[in-house]
Amino acid sequence: MKLLFICLLYISGFSTAIAAPEIELTESEQAYIIENPVINVGVMPDFTPFSYYIENTLVGFEHDLLALVSERTGLKFELKIDKWTTIYNSFKNKEIDMISSISYKKFREPFTVFTSAYYEIPIMIFVRDDFGDYLGIKSLYGKKVGVLKDVFYVKEIEKIKGIEIVYYDNYEELTKDLVFGKVDALIQNLTNINYLIKKNVYKNLKLASELVLPNTKNEDLRFGVQPDKVLLSSIIQKSLNSISNKEKESLIDKWMGSIKEYSGEHIELTDMELAYLDSHIIKYCINPNGLPLEGFDEKGQHIGMSSDYYSLFKNILGAKFQIVKTQDWNQSMNYIQQKKCDMLAFSMETLERKEYLNFTSNFIEVPLVVATRVDGPFINNILDLEGHRIGITRGDAFVKILRQKYPSLDLVEVNGVYDGLDGVKDGDLFGYIDTLVSIGYEFQNRYFGELKIAGKISEELKLSMAVVKEDEVLLNILQKIVNNLSNHFHREVFNKWIPVKYEKGINYSLVWKVVLVALFVLIIISYWNRKVIKANGLLKEAQQDIEKKNRELEKLATTDKLTSLYNRRKIDELLQIEVNRSKRFNHTFGVVILDLDYFKKVNDDFGHQVGDKVLKELSTLLAAKIRKTDFIGRFGGEEFLIICPESDDVSTYELMEMIRVTVSDHRFTTVGTLTASMGISIFKPGDDIDGLIKRADTALYKAKGEGRNRVESCDFNTPTATVDQLETHAL
Ligand code: GH3
Ligand code: MG
Ligand code: MG
Repeated sequence: MKLLFICLLYISGFSTAIAAPEIELTESEQAYIIENPVINVGVMPDFTPFSYYIENTLVGFEHDLLALVSERTGLKFELKIDKWTTIYNSFKNKEIDMISSISYKKFREPFTVFTSAYYEIPIMIFVRDDFGDYLGIKSLYGKKVGVLKDVFYVKEIEKIKGIEIVYYDNYEELTKDLVFGKVDALIQNLTNINYLIKKNVYKNLKLASELVLPNTKNEDLRFGVQPDKVLLSSIIQKSLNSISNKEKESLIDKWMGSIKEYSGEHIELTDMELAYLDSHIIKYCINPNGLPLEGFDEKGQHIGMSSDYYSLFKNILGAKFQIVKTQDWNQSMNYIQQKKCDMLAFSMETLERKEYLNFTSNFIEVPLVVATRVDGPFINNILDLEGHRIGITRGDAFVKILRQKYPSLDLVEVNGVYDGLDGVKDGDLFGYIDTLVSIGYEFQNRYFGELKIAGKISEELKLSMAVVKEDEVLLNILQKIVNNLSNHFHREVFNKWIPVKYEKGINYSLVWKVVLVALFVLIIISYWNRKVIKANGLLKEAQQDIEKKNRELEKLATTDKLTSLYNRRKIDELLQIEVNRSKRFNHTFGVVILDLDYFKKVNDDFGHQVGDKVLKELSTLLAAKIRKTDFIGRFGGEEFLIICPESDDVSTYELMEMIRVTVSDHRFTTVGTLTASMGISIFKPGDDIDGLIKRADTALYKAKGEGRNRVESCDFNTPTATVDQLETHAL
């Protein structure tokens, strides 16, 4: 195992503005530093933005952290830079004292003392543009998915049946293989988006989703220390503790800056929208019996998930919301139609409702389930409910959908979740359909042990905010806020209202766990889909920018500065293409070298700058005279090379004669008339570039030798007309 050793002495440079806080080290810790002033740390060369190269310097978040530690403790770090597998193995083999970018995993404990996490990064799934819709992990079934070897979530991915995992040593290779279709998806850190945007190779990639696996948390990055170096780990931990929040923020700003654009929080409102918020009290209705989604407490206060969302909206927007109380959901629906309220806090978009309401995009998705008595059978398919009376809440978005989709079901409308579940308990109804969250919530309160969730129905409740049709300003404001809801916030609301309620003394927790995980995944996916659309927008913009720059670069790399014609490199490339094409299709083409006659004299008589102007003027003239299909480049000095595809001796000669006359007829600024000589070669089977150029050059030499202002070729006999032209010119 070969490690790259680089000794890096951190001289205080990074945090000159910050007075280093005191760290209280014990005597033995201080002694440790004196005895072991140099610590070797394994870092990666390509782990953007934590540790990577900018030009020849290794930089990144982790290096700034190490610099802070160094400054506060006097420790010096010697870096061992290599790919993850290598530094990880060296760390396991106790060849290095410390490792960076390591995630906490129980199985790593025997050989690692972990510091606290210095960053948490979500793991993302990337696919190519043509992947189609990404509908969760099942979209990867039967597909090749690239991952980094030994990355901590590999074991979880390996558990997913039906996915073909391809292992990689580094991101570069992994990404290249996705770009070129060798794998169908790749899994890597969100932070690498920075890297993706900067690197042109990612043109055809898009973000599909965050990776959400049951046992997989976001990647947390820590330092790992050898377990026998107890003092070292406490010194490092103490120095990490000494880094203030402000310092941490500025580090994150510095290195993760562009990622922050994706996480939302900041909402830009137009003047009109701001004026609207200033002058309006927004009245909204909820479903009073919809807990935990929404409802009222004993004091008549709005509670539930929607109340948390509304508190946030109030804070962010500075908006004034006012709830309009109703008895039940039906009354809320009537109120909004009568414009007694402006909006519904949570509502599902249906065709019928769209006639009088506008909807934001949905930001919560909840599965629909059926509750039955505990002794009933499990339901695999909604059609298993045929022939039974099934309750559903009147006015529910699903009444119509289910009636249309499953006309054979005997759906009985009830007044709400209590009515429905009571009906099931009493045997009046066989089952009751509602959202998982509503039924689950009531189960805890009333029906525990009597009813069960018998199955999931393929339908889902997708919740948006609904606004009366006339009020487009409000709709736009709300849509902006939906776009900016953070993952963190969704999680918080979810944790507050769902798991806590369900965990109280349940013994059929397995069913719950499965369904809850599904629900959680759904909510997160719905959130990420929007995030991803936004991130892809930014990615596209960056790509367009890169493409534009590349076009400019490409132009610079292929054109001659003085004349703006193709340069020698490009001309060689074009010649090769023509040779290949002519070989393949058994065609021919002409190559011409054009050289100004007595050009030295122009320089001598008028100076080099005038000479340059002549070359420019000639270039414009030539470029205008050749055909659209021909190519012209500056071959060197005052020599030009013209390629005439699909042209034989006759057509090439005629074209060159025309050009010769054009040049000799032209009056160059300052200089007056000039002439040019041309040598032609015609491609023949077995030819290569060298042969073609050599023959054109010989022909040019011949033209010069025979008096200049001539077109000559070694491949065919040229008519004698040129001589007449020469005489004409001599006049
Ligand atoms: P000939 O008819 O035999 O071609 O005579 P010539 O004077 O044109 O001779 P030759 O082609 O050997 O010399 C080319 C001259 O072109 C040499 C150099 O001074 C001039 N030259 C080459 N490149 C440039 C340029 O970029 N700008 C200017 N002003 N002059 C150039
Ligand atoms: Mg020359
Ligand atoms: Mg010349």
